[in-house]
Amino acid sequence: MAVQLFIPSYRVEECLDQIRECLEAGWTGLGFKTVEFEEKWRDYTGLNNAHFLNSATAGLHLAVKILKETYSWNDDDEIISTPLTFISTNHAITHEKMKAVFADVDEYLCLDPEDVEKKIGPRTRAVMFVGLGGNTGRYPEIVKLCKKYDLKLILDAAHMAGTRLNGNIPGKEADAVIYSFHAVKNLPTADSGMICFALKELDDICRKYTWLGINKDTYTRTNESGAYKWKYDVDYLGYKYHGNSIMAAIGLVQLKYLDADNQYRRKIANWYDEKFKSSQNISPVPIGQGCDTSRHLYIIEVDNRDELLNILNENEIYPGVHYRDNTEYPMYAYGNGICTNAEFKSNRILSLPIHLKMAKKEVHMISEIIIRNAKQVSS
Ligand SMILES: *Cc1c(COP(=O)(O)O)cnc(C)c1O
Repeated sequence: MAVQLFIPSYRVEECLDQIRECLEAGWTGLGFKTVEFEEKWRDYTGLNNAHFLNSATAGLHLAVKILKETYSWNDDDEIISTPLTFISTNHAITHEKMKAVFADVDEYLCLDPEDVEKKIGPRTRAVMFVGLGGNTGRYPEIVKLCKKYDLKLILDAAHMAGTRLNGNIPGKEADAVIYSFHAVKNLPTADSGMICFALKELDDICRKYTWLGINKDTYTRTNESGAYKWKYDVDYLGYKYHGNSIMAAIGLVQLKYLDADNQYRRKIANWYDEKFKSSQNISPVPIGQGCDTSRHLYIIEVDNRDELLNILNENEIYPGVHYRDNTEYPMYAYGNGICTNAEFKSNRILSLPIHLKMAKKEVHMISEIIIRNAKQVSS
C-alpha cells in the first residue's frame, strides 16, 4: 500500500452543504461565504483584519507591495528572508523590485535571529519570517529585532494555520500575516489564502488591490439601493487576487475541525518521535520553545538523504523535501554560499508522510524502514 506525503481530507457532506448554499443563492464569487469566512478567521486567530484571497502567493505579493507603497520604500531596498522556503516567499520580494537578502536558518529551519541581525543594513526595510512546517522557531526574537531596528515584519504563515505560541495564535506582532489554504496545506480548500494586515487602512487598500483597484465590490453594490449602484471608481492598478465563495465554503468547514486535525497531526509526529528516539542516525527537527505546532510537516535530518529517499520510494512511500535552498535557483544565486546551514540542511532533510488518513501502523512501518536504512548523523 502506497503512502503519500500529503493527502487532503474533507468532510464531504458538510462541504457539499456549504457549497449548495452558494449554488442555491446564486452567489459563488467574492462576498457571501468569503465575508463569513473572513469573520470566522478573525474570531479564530484574534487578528484585527482578514481578507480572503485566491492564494497565499497573492497575499505575499500584496504584503510587500502595500508596505512598500505605504512606507515609501525604494526599488532595491532590502527584505531579509530565508533560503529554505517555497519560492513564493522570495518571488514576492523580487516582483516588487526589492532585494531578498538571505539570512541563515537555525536548528528549527527557521530564520536564525543572530544571522538576521548581522544582515541588517541601511537599506533593510523588513524581515520575512517563514514558520516552516508550522514551527515558530525563534520568532519572538525576530519580533524583538524588528522593534529594535524599526523594521516591518511579514509572517509567511502558509504552514501555520492553527499554530499556537505560548497558547496564542502568533501574528499580532507582525505587519502582515499570510496563510495558505492550498490543497496540500494543513487547512486544505483547493486553492486559496488569507492576508491579515495589522492596520485597517492597509486592509482597506488591499481589498481594492485584490479586485482590480475597484473601490466597491459587486457584493456591496448588490446590497446597496439606488440607481447608482452600478457605478464605481478605480483607485489603483489592481489585480484579480480575491477569493471566491466556493473556496470559502470549504474553508468554513475545515476551520471547524482545524484544532482537532492539528492535534491528530501532532499525534502522528509523536508516534514518529517515539520510534526515532532510540536511533542515533535520525534527528527529527526540533520544535521551538512554547510552540504548539500545526504540524504541517514532520522533518527528519539524516546523512544519506538521497539514498534513503530512493529506498522509501522503492517501498511505495513518498516523502518530500522542504525545501531546496532557494539560492540554487539562478535568480537567487547571488545569495549562494552565504547561508551555510541552510545549504547543509537542505541536502539532509526529508519530510515524512503526515496526513489525517494515516494510522499508527503506517507510521511504524515507515519508521522501521527508515531506522534500518538511515546513516549516522554527523554534526
Ligand atoms: C505553499 C506556500 C506558499 C504559497 O501558498 P499558495 O496558497 O499555494 O500560493 C507560500 N509560502 C510557503 C512557505 C508555502 O509553503
